[in-house]
Amino acid sequence: MTDQAALQSVLDRAAAGGRITKEEALDLYRHAPLHALGQAADAVRRRRYAGTEHIATYIIERNINYTNVCVTACKFCAFYAAPKDEKKGWSRDLEDILRRCAETVELGGTQIMFQGGHHPDYGVEYYEEHFAAIKKAFPQLVIHSLGASEVEHMARISGVTAEEAIARIHAAGLDSFAGAGAELLPERPRTAIAPLKESGERWLEIMEIAHRLGVESTSTMLMGTGETNAERIEHIAMIRDTQDRTGGFRAFIPYTYQPENNKLKGRTQATIFEYLRMIAIARLFLDNIAHIQGSWLTVGKEAGQLSLHYGADDLGSIMLEENVVSSAGAKHRSNRQEIIDLIRKAGRTPAQRATTYEHLLVHGDPANDPADDRVVSHISSTAIEGGTAHPELKLISTN
Ligand code: SF4
Repeated sequence: MTDQAALQSVLDRAAAGGRITKEEALDLYRHAPLHALGQAADAVRRRRYAGTEHIATYIIERNINYTNVCVTACKFCAFYAAPKDEKKGWSRDLEDILRRCAETVELGGTQIMFQGGHHPDYGVEYYEEHFAAIKKAFPQLVIHSLGASEVEHMARISGVTAEEAIARIHAAGLDSFAGAGAELLPERPRTAIAPLKESGERWLEIMEIAHRLGVESTSTMLMGTGETNAERIEHIAMIRDTQDRTGGFRAFIPYTYQPENNKLKGRTQATIFEYLRMIAIARLFLDNIAHIQGSWLTVGKEAGQLSLHYGADDLGSIMLEENVVSSAGAKHRSNRQEIIDLIRKAGRTPAQRATTYEHLLVHGDPANDPADDRVVSHISSTAIEGGTAHPELKLISTN
């Protein structure tokens, strides 16, 4: 279907709340004019958030990379060290991790994302011990971390089922899964970039178990490692099918592959246009997922800002630390005030959100509500811009 009238009719149906098929999504992704995609996706966003459609959200979190030692050796990854590579490999001890949590709380963060390699010695017990210690010391911090890949790995190490692993780490303190490891779910592109990871079907199966056990999650997609347009659409179709059964995915977050320092070097990144098209298609096709997140650590601030006009309602996190995509070449940095300004310049009202997307603080217009911005700049000056109290911290933004 390349007839523009036919494409517009599908866009109109989607904008009015109708479901579109996988084939229609692929046609739109390939052939619909970019502005028409954005217009339809924005209409869907506005209808879903009628009454608060003027708001775009962000969250403050810290990404705690607990180890880079990993047995899975994904070809796109610039972060990991093989277990025998003692020069490159490192792990943080619990004291170091708790110090990072303390700084997160002190700097206004509400969430931590535990993210690391598949360490050959870290089974369920490791995560139980660490999550319990974090929750005991900082019950106010939400542990939004890991994903199906980590569950598969830790269950194998401990000789238990995925169901038992999830139940145990949830009981120890894990609140929700970050959706790590989804990469590309269809078999061909997944095997090409992460041959040792579990299959896409298994990734979804584990997320389904988690959702059934009451552990919700986000979902992600890595774009630009050589997958076809049809495989991109297949990826979101697999997520939509699972979501129809579970309702446990809170958000969908596409992000672009960073080409430095890894074994896929030389492959092309997804362009900004491809990225914006995917944000819009996600809003139109994933009619059962509430939040679509612009990930501007990988695509840049302007593209992140534009994503708010292509169906995204959230700009993700201002991070106190990030090492994984930065290792692969993501160079975009920002701070809280900058995100607030970006959202305002996109014509939206910024709001700090919780992990579960409730609004914690809706920022007023500084012209009308100067007190509101005084709160913001107080936090910015000490944490976000690297004040003397925490000189080692970088506050940057990613998903
Ligand atoms: S992406 Fe994760 S699982 Fe894959 S090599 Fe890197 S750290 Fe290991």
